[in-house]
Amino acid sequence: MTERRDFEVIVIGAGIAGASLAYFLAEQGCGDVLLLEREAQLAVHSTGRSAATLSSADANPTLLRIKQAAKPFFLAPPAGFSENPVLRASGVLGVYPEPLWSRLRSALAALRETGLNATLLEPDEVLRRVPALERSQFAGGILIPDDGRLDVHEILSSYLRHARARGAILKLGQEVLEVVVEGGRCRGVRTRDEVFRARIVVDAAGAWAGQVARLAGAMAIELVPHRRTIVTFAPPAGLAIADWPMVASSAHDLYFAPEAGDLLLSPMDEDAMAPCDPSPDDAVVADGLARFGKLAPALLPRSLKRRWSGLRTFAPDRVHVVGEDPTLPGFFWLAGQGGCGIETSPLVGRVAAELVLHGRSDAFDTELLSPARFAVS
Ligand SMILES: Cc1cc2nc3c(=O)[nH]c(=O)nc-3n(C[C@H](O)[C@H](O)[C@H](O)COP(=O)(O)OP(=O)(O)OC[C@H]3O[C@@H](n4cnc5c(N)ncnc54)[C@H](O)[C@@H]3O)c2cc1C
Repeated sequence: MTERRDFEVIVIGAGIAGASLAYFLAEQGCGDVLLLEREAQLAVHSTGRSAATLSSADANPTLLRIKQAAKPFFLAPPAGFSENPVLRASGVLGVYPEPLWSRLRSALAALRETGLNATLLEPDEVLRRVPALERSQFAGGILIPDDGRLDVHEILSSYLRHARARGAILKLGQEVLEVVVEGGRCRGVRTRDEVFRARIVVDAAGAWAGQVARLAGAMAIELVPHRRTIVTFAPPAGLAIADWPMVASSAHDLYFAPEAGDLLLSPMDEDAMAPCDPSPDDAVVADGLARFGKLAPALLPRSLKRRWSGLRTFAPDRVHVVGEDPTLPGFFWLAGQGGCGIETSPLVGRVAAELVLHGRSDAFDTELLSPARFAVS
């Protein structure tokens, strides 16, 4: 049998963005999809390096709406979606010093109106949940009890399993080196050995999405990868941490959470860099641990178990870029997932699939996501 080279849709990149799109295309009856992934394994880049958190609060109103619209999928996934639970609703607890705490307190009603299931916690209630926090470092907390930790491997493999069951083809170790443009329209891609053709080519290349767009000659959108680091370490012996929520403190620029018997901590670094395979910066880790020593001195580790960094890639307004390129028909953006690409994938993947298949989606205000918002008039 000769290998197929013509498809309805080609997706460049099989991270959470590409996988969720393939899933929702299949759900809508389109399994004529080729996913091309450069790496020989899945989840090598951002998708495999995240903090795996569903944290539905967001200061950006568009991201807040996307997160609210995506969350029900994880709270109650479609029947048969996954083999194991995808969410452990262990809660996300923001802790705040004054004067921020008083401001948030008086804004609680407005916060709840956005749909956030937020509960105010007085300091004693915060300490009852996470006794290791230093009382002088915060004045109160806001708990979102049904946020929590996602199983990214389960989500990614479930998206792909369903897509492949309905015909999608996943090819690993296939880097797209060229985007084929003929007659002013995007027609396919070239890898080292092959040319594949399609009606629509989707750029879901994560930190490399800007590079892929340049290969195609699509619009220039400034997508900038930013490094973020995570370390893990053992908690003090005998301390029961398993039921703690994730704790985030914007005043200390860090978050931490239980992670498979250990603690996971991020110094919430955000260094802009070119697309790459980033490594943690020792100074960033040391500064983060110094801040952690103020917020939770009893937890400060003597040594680390694991440390890694990944890239969070942002458009200038920090909102996803989803839609057909206004200057290059057939070239579709699915990029700029930033720091919430996993938790937003059920909504963004669905919107992208509907746009690819029908040119419109009722699931969200697609103009807020469209690449056209960056067009220079
Ligand atoms: C430390 C850290 C913590 C995070 N925490 C969270 C969190 O708690 N919750 C959350 O929702 N999000 C979080 N994120 C963000 C989330 O990980 C990303 O938004 C998401 O994974 C981006 O997915 P993606 O598919 O766009 O990119 P990727 O996962 O990077 O996938 C893109 C793929 O494209 C492939 N590719 C690139 N160029 C080509 C080419 N030319 N040909 C073929 N393939 C190509 C790459 O190999 C890659 O596999 C975090 C990120 C980091 C780094």
